[in-house]
Amino acid sequence: MTVDTQSNPLPHLAGFSERGGKWYAEDVSLASLAEQYGTPLYIYSKRAITEAYQAYDRACVDAAGKRRARIHFAMKSNSNLAVLDCLRRLGAGFDLVSGGELARALAIGAEPSSLVFAGVGKSATEITAALKAGVKCINVESIPELHQINRIASQQGCRAPISLRVNPDVDAQTHPYISTGLKDNKFGIAYHEVLKTYREAALLSHIDVVGIDCHIGSQITSIAPYLDAVDKVLDLVVHLKKEGVVIHHLDLGGGLGISYGAETPPDITEFTNALLNHVAKRGFAHLDVVLEPGRSLVGNAGVLLTRVEYLKPGAEKNFCIVDAAMTELMRPALYEAYHAIVPIQTKELSHQTYDVVGPVCESGDWLGRDRALAIAEGDYLAILSAGAYGFVMSSNYNTRPRPAEIMVDGDKAYVIRDRENVSDLFAGERTLP
Ligand SMILES: *Cc1c(COP(=O)(O)O)cnc(C)c1O
Repeated sequence: MTVDTQSNPLPHLAGFSERGGKWYAEDVSLASLAEQYGTPLYIYSKRAITEAYQAYDRACVDAAGKRRARIHFAMKSNSNLAVLDCLRRLGAGFDLVSGGELARALAIGAEPSSLVFAGVGKSATEITAALKAGVKCINVESIPELHQINRIASQQGCRAPISLRVNPDVDAQTHPYISTGLKDNKFGIAYHEVLKTYREAALLSHIDVVGIDCHIGSQITSIAPYLDAVDKVLDLVVHLKKEGVVIHHLDLGGGLGISYGAETPPDITEFTNALLNHVAKRGFAHLDVVLEPGRSLVGNAGVLLTRVEYLKPGAEKNFCIVDAAMTELMRPALYEAYHAIVPIQTKELSHQTYDVVGPVCESGDWLGRDRALAIAEGDYLAILSAGAYGFVMSSNYNTRPRPAEIMVDGDKAYVIRDRENVSDLFAGERTLP
């Protein structure tokens, strides 16, 4: 191995593996993809996405064959049409957070009844589009938004199916930027205001109360905070029933973490069973449950390939300067996130410790710190676990075209998004006369 796993712990991967000193995506060598399509380059494994989805799907059906829950993929984590279409064919619905994501879901032929629309600041245009499309549910995050939806539904002469997003005030024990269920977060309706807001919603002329939802954060590595949130949400369902407000579905959000190397989150089966068994134990097996996983379906199904441009030794640090940057993968700059980094071909070289950095003019532009790697200039590196919140967060900062995306299926590779051209980046700009 050319990887020192002490400084560079590796996740378990379903779609990527090292064989005979070379890394592969399923049956295609990463080196052949780098040569053919250039770098930086995103590569996804269809098999990895499929296996993760099927793990959820199996756990959603009980021993008697009854479906206990449905999976709505949180498409903000990876919204490439090929990824969405792959999940749609497997039977997934979608969780959307913008009008743009609604357009993507409709573009791949998703059933409107398989769409739930979340987000803290939906515009009138977005609400109108969601009602026109006929989504399953709009997840409401504030009282003024509830009234706005009622107004728009009344103008359109339809009724809006809604759920209120409860902020359960539980600590998901994750990075503060991806924690969403604490009372000082911007998300959801404060726990003590939820009952009053449902009463208000039930009186509105063009609103149908259909569900209740929560989403407590992302990259969560233990089940306990979920069970706390479920208990708090079910307590509300009990109260609502006494007041005659009937809840049909319980949407528990997403957030299950993945292993980027060092973490040991519960696996998908264990997590889903724990959650659904808890709902049943509390006597709510009759409710339809919606789960909205994003990261746990696609995070470990993608890598970012990059080329070593320069090795720059220094007094304090050695830098490995690569052709990918925070523009392709923002998670390290944004959350100080760890991604394992591996050379895609074994070399007979000694290890050196490097900070792996991009060419962008920001000190925050780093991809990995203090990694022991046996590499030379011109080598390719794979940045692992880049399938979720990778390409979707990419930008054109420094006028950098965004990379191509490839999906591998067995021994075939498909271009699922073309690399951008520099000229595209300023095609819509004008100078003054
Ligand atoms: C982001 C988000 C998800 C998915 O979160 P993951 O951590 O990627 O599973 C699900 N539901 C809502 C409302 C979200 O905002």
